[in-house]
Amino acid sequence: MKPRVALVTIGHVDHGKSTLLGRLLMEKGVVPREEVARYERQAALLGKASFKYAWVLDRSEESRARGLTLDLSYADFLTRNRKVHLIDAPGHQDFVRSMITGTTGADAALLVVDAAEGVMPQTREHAQLASAMGLRQVIVALNKIDRVAYDAAKVAEAAAAVRGFLDGFGFERVDVIPVSAWEGENLTTRSDAMSWYRGRTLEEAIDGLDARPAPREGPLRLPAMDVLTVGGVGTVVVGRVGRGVLREGDEVAIEPAGKVATVKSIEIHGQSVTDATAGDTVGVALRGLARTDVERGDVLGPVEEAPVAVDGFEARVALTGEVGRAGIGWTPMLHCHAAAVPVRLAEVLARIDPASGAEEPSPTQSLARGDVARVRFVNVKPLVIEGAEAGPALGRFALRLGRVTVGAGSCIAVTPHQKEASPAEEAGAAFSYKHQKAGSSARRKKEQEAAKNRDIHGRPIDPKRRE
Ligand code: GDP
Repeated sequence: MKPRVALVTIGHVDHGKSTLLGRLLMEKGVVPREEVARYERQAALLGKASFKYAWVLDRSEESRARGLTLDLSYADFLTRNRKVHLIDAPGHQDFVRSMITGTTGADAALLVVDAAEGVMPQTREHAQLASAMGLRQVIVALNKIDRVAYDAAKVAEAAAAVRGFLDGFGFERVDVIPVSAWEGENLTTRSDAMSWYRGRTLEEAIDGLDARPAPREGPLRLPAMDVLTVGGVGTVVVGRVGRGVLREGDEVAIEPAGKVATVKSIEIHGQSVTDATAGDTVGVALRGLARTDVERGDVLGPVEEAPVAVDGFEARVALTGEVGRAGIGWTPMLHCHAAAVPVRLAEVLARIDPASGAEEPSPTQSLARGDVARVRFVNVKPLVIEGAEAGPALGRFALRLGRVTVGAGSCIAVTPHQKEASPAEEAGAAFSYKHQKAGSSARRKKEQEAAKNRDIHGRPIDPKRRE
């Protein structure tokens, strides 16, 4: 089987993300040309002819009509050596929030930059986020080359500017591919209009990405991105398998919700399947679960090795936005996989030199813009997050104040939720777990089972006496 790469699309508004994806998917045969022709007619009627490709992926209206609120869309296609999973955040509500969810588990970013306009504020914000969330490979689609008349000198200048800009972000690999999404130049076929160009097409660049082996090993982790009620099916959780394997008939624990349910059926792209592995985006119908029992950000896992709700965690953070003086008690919003939970800065453990990665003691217990540090956070609401040893699927995050992204990072180690009152609870922090959050509901079940065979003092009951 071809190795799989997951690619998240980012870039400044109007630089041509949707157009690029639409055209690419048409050229790869994922979207029939007739469908694009239909969009073209509809768009022309509305005087928006230039959006015919953009509509291929922007299914928000259709989604709304179906009562769905999915804020990511996906498409799969094959290149010579790779199975490509394209992740698009249409961003009709909040692009960055969707992008964060999309970036978790992506192997690379496809950064679309308008060659005529160059680097813009969202180019910077998205590149920063992608880097801080651990992506190491970027393909820049230097778009709208038709607007600079396919001029070699102008393209070279624009490409150098983007490369220079990306230099400081720590990406290990940056490809810059000149394309015209609108004209379909240099996407899947060599461009005649740019006969001077000797480099790769966009498809070839994607084909050359390093693929990370899908983490099939280890217990299942599936963060719920959306929860729907589907007529005739019941409660359906939509999300991307971060690790492990999900099988029909499995009993799954859902944390921090503290619920257990059975996997009734699994769908991938509308096709019914019996199992799904890391990297697959799935809809899972669950038996024994009401729509209100589970919410976005809850994580599904096997009952025996349930996802662990934490009381706090240690993390490496980079503050890229204006935070003033962020001292102990500073409480940004943590966006991790599909969860959004406020976290309180509890301790600054060390400073990190961004260039060398070396740690040094922190002279103060406060942080400012530009700082990179190892810190301890306490989450103010239930949260499942995983440390570095578990892989990046559930450990990368962004920090936001309102709608402004001020930093990002990754979790190093977690403090599992203690059944006893945690220091935070004793300090009167607003912990109100919906249920008992001591790890899995399964454990609770087992304890209840065990309790049946004990007397009120917790002593085992002699089975003979019970008879
Ligand atoms: P997004 O906001 O990044 O998704 O951008 P869109 O895909 O919606 O594109 C914004 C506008 O740029 C639309 O009017 C597109 O038709 C136009 N556009 C996109 N790609 C190209 C291109 O390669 N050449 C030209 N001339 N226009 C383009």
